[in-house]
Amino acid sequence: DIVSPEPQDDVELAVEGALRPQSLAEFVGQHKVRGQLQLLLDAARLQDRAPDHILLAGPPGLGKTTLAMIVAHESGRPLRMSSGPAIQHAGDLAALLSSLTPGEVLFIDEIHRMARSAEEMLYLAMEDFRIDIMVGKGAGATSIPLELAPFTLVGATTRSGLLPNPLRDRFGFTAHLEYYDASELEHVVDRSASVLGVGLDATQRAEIARRSRGTPRIANRLLRRVRDWTLVNGSGGSVSLEGVQAALDLYDVDAIGLDRLDRAVLHALVHRFQGGPVGLSTLAVTVGEEPDTVESVVEPYLVRIGFMGRTPRGRIATPDAYAHLGLAT
Ligand code: ATP
Repeated sequence: DIVSPEPQDDVELAVEGALRPQSLAEFVGQHKVRGQLQLLLDAARLQDRAPDHILLAGPPGLGKTTLAMIVAHESGRPLRMSSGPAIQHAGDLAALLSSLTPGEVLFIDEIHRMARSAEEMLYLAMEDFRIDIMVGKGAGATSIPLELAPFTLVGATTRSGLLPNPLRDRFGFTAHLEYYDASELEHVVDRSASVLGVGLDATQRAEIARRSRGTPRIANRLLRRVRDWTLVNGSGGSVSLEGVQAALDLYDVDAIGLDRLDRAVLHALVHRFQGGPVGLSTLAVTVGEEPDTVESVVEPYLVRIGFMGRTPRGRIATPDAYAHLGLAT
């Protein structure tokens, strides 16, 4: 799915690696978070200690992994990467924590998906750099304390509301990442285009940015499709605005970043249900999708751009949705 904020495959992850900014100065947008992180890193450097634990919260594709790498890079410390789903037992976390070298930055992506037993072990580790390892079972069980090397935990979550308070409270700083505005996305596209060796003018960059749903990952993906189109169809590899539009139209991404399924949902709402309200499962059946997909993939963006409303009686189309489809309300 070309406008999904989630990474699509390993090839994309490899390309993303090459497109990642290496420093806070290169990181586009998120001015507030950048300032906050800079202060945190500078203070740690002046006191020659590991930076405080950091929680990065926000939707997928906005740069959480990139920021974790930058924290390690800027503080001159090694980075260890893991993720919540990989930590299904307290023992998984114990093995990870006890193998950290002093000062290492530990990145746990999707930290809200870690096992509950591991979460509890993490509280003590974050606070006192210590864990208690349980040995044996039942009445004979004993706990053996294990000292850890000081480390900085960088947690990332798309669902900070799912994190238990005791875990959230143990982070020294929580960064809330926001969707990017058009000019920031143009900047992301500009930067990535020079890394990929694609020459784009301001109008072409703006065209890609407008269709990227506020998300750098999507902007980079659309840019790669434009590059492909130009390679195959462009005269001598040079990009034209028509080429940008043709490439993105070919992948069914319209002028504001809606894809085929987004438009199918809007059409169903407007034409089949006279603008709603209609229940989620009825809407999903009408477009031939699972309710989960409509709820987690389609709705967030349509609601964010004000095309769809959620009411206690069901989903409704707004006047802006009618206008986008070229219809009167
Ligand atoms: P997920 O939650 O799905 O893991 P994420 O928030 O960790 O996503 P990243 O993997 O850091 O997102 O970023 C996705 C892509 O977008 C990368 O190629 C990264 O280089 C690019 N990117 C993200 N934010 C920025 C930014 N502020 N400036 C430039 N490029 C960015």
